[in-house]
Amino acid sequence: MKCEICGKKDPKVIGVLPIQMKNGNLCTLACEECMKKSHTYCKEHDRIHIGFIDGTTACGECVNKLRQSFSLNQAQKIASTILGDVSVSDAERLRETAEISMTVTGWSLPIAIIHLVATRAVRSKQSVDEVVDNISNTESADSILR
Ligand SMILES: [Zn+2]
Ligand SMILES: [Zn+2]
Repeated sequence: MKCEICGKKDPKVIGVLPIQMKNGNLCTLACEECMKKSHTYCKEHDRIHIGFIDGTTACGECVNKLRQSFSLNQAQKIASTILGDVSVSDAERLRETAEISMTVTGWSLPIAIIHLVATRAVRSKQSVDEVVDNISNTESADSILR
């Protein structure tokens, strides 16, 4: 086994980074040093990001932290803005996606929607406001459903 970034042989710690390799593999094996230098590693939470099919990544704990920074009241306002601005079919898709996480986590609909928005914000390095504005302007929930 060797680090797929620097080529070091048999590193003690191997991190599986969500970086697509040129050969098509969806992950990259890295030694500890390369893992900690990677943009897919969160120093604050000492963990590797989650990878998404569009090539973006996000630290799960950073997403949780951002989600938790919203009160239920704020979440309700944002969720109703989004559900009101997107097309009927997107609102339906959004509810269906949110319901999956609600079943697992016990969250209410607004919190499940804020989680999707927070995930996109961390993935795209945008603020929650920017993500919501983009949804309103495009009348599409695609950005948080992918
Ligand atoms: Zn390395
Ligand atoms: Zn983090």
